[in-house]
Amino acid sequence: MKIRIAGTVSESIVDGPGLRYVVFVQGCPHNCEGCHNPETHSFSGGKIVDTDELFAECMEDPLQDGVTFSGGEPFCQAEALYALGKRFKESGLHLMCYSGWTYEQLLEKSEKEEFVGKLLSITDVLADGKFVLEKRSLALKFRGSTNQRLIDVQKSLKENRTILAEL
Ligand code: SF4
Repeated sequence: MKIRIAGTVSESIVDGPGLRYVVFVQGCPHNCEGCHNPETHSFSGGKIVDTDELFAECMEDPLQDGVTFSGGEPFCQAEALYALGKRFKESGLHLMCYSGWTYEQLLEKSEKEEFVGKLLSITDVLADGKFVLEKRSLALKFRGSTNQRLIDVQKSLKENRTILAEL
């Protein structure tokens, strides 16, 4: 399946726990002031690749503990990322997703957008919410501002409430 991406990084230690393969998707509607990746905002920028290529690139490196979908806004390309993420999960990799929407907003979106719900259903940890410049902190793990949360999606879905992840 085709996907529009800004790029990928292997063996990242800053985008989630352990060593991670990171897919930076292209296109973001949130326009957060102070965003670190403004070049990922345009929905016509970046490049179009096949998810098979991304899967193969990640699996070439046996050291990776997990995969992170970052951006850009991953949930704008939920169908392709669900197809890709499912393969990573079946290969035993931990899956983390970033989103400018909150977990609760994504749940609401999932009522109308099937693949938003499906992508959530295979996500282990969600880093949620827009980057807020006034709330920026360098002390936070895997997040940029204090309003953003790391959510244990599997537990949250199971218990029908928002549960933070322990990382
Ligand atoms: S959601 Fe992320 S990529 Fe999009 S504008 Fe905000 S900080 Fe930038």
